[in-house]
Amino acid sequence: MYKLEEIIKQFPMLDGSKTMQGHPLVFLDNASTTLKPYCVIKAIEEYYSDYTANHHRGDYDLCYKVDMKVQEVREKVAKFINSEVNEVVFTSGDTESLNLIAYGYALDNLKKDDVILLSLEEHASNTLPWYRICELTGAKVEFVDLEDKKITVNRVKEAFNKCKNIKIVSFAHVGNVLGYEIDAKNIANVVHEHGAIFVLDAAQSVPHIKTDFKDLDVDFITFSAHKMCGPTGIGALIGKYSLLQKMSLFKTGGGMNVKFNKNMEVIPLDAPYKFEAGTLNIAGIIGFGAAIDFINSIGLDAIKEHELELARYALSRLESCKDVVIYNKDSNSGIIAFNRAGVFAQDEATLLNSKGIAVRSGQHCAKMIDEVLDTIATVRASFYLYTSKEEVDIFCDNLIKGGDILDAYFSK
Ligand code: PMP
Repeated sequence: MYKLEEIIKQFPMLDGSKTMQGHPLVFLDNASTTLKPYCVIKAIEEYYSDYTANHHRGDYDLCYKVDMKVQEVREKVAKFINSEVNEVVFTSGDTESLNLIAYGYALDNLKKDDVILLSLEEHASNTLPWYRICELTGAKVEFVDLEDKKITVNRVKEAFNKCKNIKIVSFAHVGNVLGYEIDAKNIANVVHEHGAIFVLDAAQSVPHIKTDFKDLDVDFITFSAHKMCGPTGIGALIGKYSLLQKMSLFKTGGGMNVKFNKNMEVIPLDAPYKFEAGTLNIAGIIGFGAAIDFINSIGLDAIKEHELELARYALSRLESCKDVVIYNKDSNSGIIAFNRAGVFAQDEATLLNSKGIAVRSGQHCAKMIDEVLDTIATVRASFYLYTSKEEVDIFCDNLIKGGDILDAYFSK
């Protein structure tokens, strides 16, 4: 039994006191970021109030305690994603993880006319680092053809048949606009058969579905803690150890080296530490660990089922509303991308805001998605482990009722 009431009680943002435009808050922007439970907030507060010290910096008890906590979280992340502990690099989040692969791996390994394969549905963070690498190396980006808006194993095979120079493939595991999950394991197989490496941008999958690094056999996985009830400014890059060891340094400074001398010789630590220059986001790491414990206490299977149930329910309610165009009815996620006919997405989001409902509108950082959807902008409602059926009802009621954008300003 999914104990939704108990779960909701863990979130101060859901204590009933938060409002927008005078209405109780209905937070449906979870693909963007998620709310934080008390246990995460408490873990961060405890670090600041009870055992503040740096990491790897001193030979005294407090410092040792911090070292142990950071190591504990690294182990937790590894267990959560099924990697080795030394395959977990702490970064500031998904975006930094992708940049680390781009600058630490791609910059050294790509040359003129090599190809990075992406899709038109990728987030800016899984596109722009690769564009920059192309500028620096003379490599090119190609886009995989989609099959009914989806990336499929067959289309990836075709891409390799058409183009012999693909060296890196980088796709979102679950898209942040349409919520489609790719068949990462079989795509990884195809990519490896052709000697390329596969990067999985898992910002939208790790918080919602079991994502098993070893089983999927991808080369890198990237994600952010803030999309899984954790703090902002922290996330991870998971990489096969042999690749991490070969990768160049992206950031250098304190904490990542064994020794350096006046001849400019630097001996870096082994991976993952060689990538973690400077004082770590210790509070963030500790909050990240608490978020993983929290998610584990509910279970990813139950979370996924809850989100799917809400999505199915919302779709069944919106089905009869001819004014609402849904772009991802067949998505296996808690994301609904839609427009109300004749209403610009941002106007619709503003109207929903006037009723206390938080949704995202526009291109959701996936700025090429208009080529796939034939619309320049969509509204996105995204559910998470604490979303209730009542909230989905408020959202659907308001969407079905419609209204003029001017209501947002004059109908208080
Ligand atoms: N990729 C995808 C698929 C995302 O949804 C996001 C966040 N919207 C990112 C990358 C970037 O994540 P962050 O801003 O946390 O680095």
